[in-house]
Amino acid sequence: MATDRQQTTIRICAALLSIAILSAAPVRADDAQGVQRMYVLYCGESDTKDVSVWSPGVDVGKPREFSDSCYLIRHAKGLLLWESGVSDTIAAMPDGLTVGNGMLTLHVRKTLRSQLQELGIAPAAITHLGFSHFHGDHVGNVNLFTSAKLYIQQAEYDAAFGPDAAKSGFNPAFYNKLRDSETVKLDGDHDIFGDGSVVIYSTPGHTPGHQSLQVRLPKTGPVLLSGDAVHFGENWENRRVPARNFSQEQSLASMEKLAAILEREYATLWINHDKSQTDTLPHAPEFVE
Ligand SMILES: [Zn+2]
Repeated sequence: MATDRQQTTIRICAALLSIAILSAAPVRADDAQGVQRMYVLYCGESDTKDVSVWSPGVDVGKPREFSDSCYLIRHAKGLLLWESGVSDTIAAMPDGLTVGNGMLTLHVRKTLRSQLQELGIAPAAITHLGFSHFHGDHVGNVNLFTSAKLYIQQAEYDAAFGPDAAKSGFNPAFYNKLRDSETVKLDGDHDIFGDGSVVIYSTPGHTPGHQSLQVRLPKTGPVLLSGDAVHFGENWENRRVPARNFSQEQSLASMEKLAAILEREYATLWINHDKSQTDTLPHAPEFVE
């Protein structure tokens, strides 16, 4: 017969064992809620001979290189592609493509399609689709993703799919195939999966319906993807607005909105075109959690 002390030890051991069993319980696939991981994809790059186009009166005549990123977000309820970068067709041009009267030269050293292939993801597997805005360096490959549900601000939709697309600097040839896509038209912020893990923030100014995206990563925490609400760190710190933006006033208000979100959510700002920051991020096939 066990003594009192032995029985106490047995009870403690049994309790510890049950805790161990509970904590070792396997996680079922449908228990892994929210965002699981995010891939940063190389989506082209560009360079300019005069960065002051983006920072009026500052660094006049100085060259600058820009990164261009796409983001693939794996959520328990779907696969979201945010941004689609510069057109893969430019990969075949050894000198790249110069646009905007010589303002910017675009290059693609590795196609978006090949990076998805490397991850074993067919374009048709993308279920949710969104872009910060409809300029060519963000919607260059969208015609690949016609089976996804599109999230777009009504103001951007009207500018991009209306009769005066060129006036906003949009080229419908890039995104014509999305006309028949299932489309969620927004007028403000939107929680895509309904659990607060992936939230679109309306940040107009660069274009009429520009938007930014917050992704709540399980280990990294919330990351705020700027789009072109700001183009690089110095413009962010000094609240500088490119002269060609659709609205100066809205651009400034959107930067203040993003600053308030960063503070409230303890989020990190990832600036799409800031090459020095983008170079520090792990790129696909690596991912962030
Ligand atoms: Zn851009």
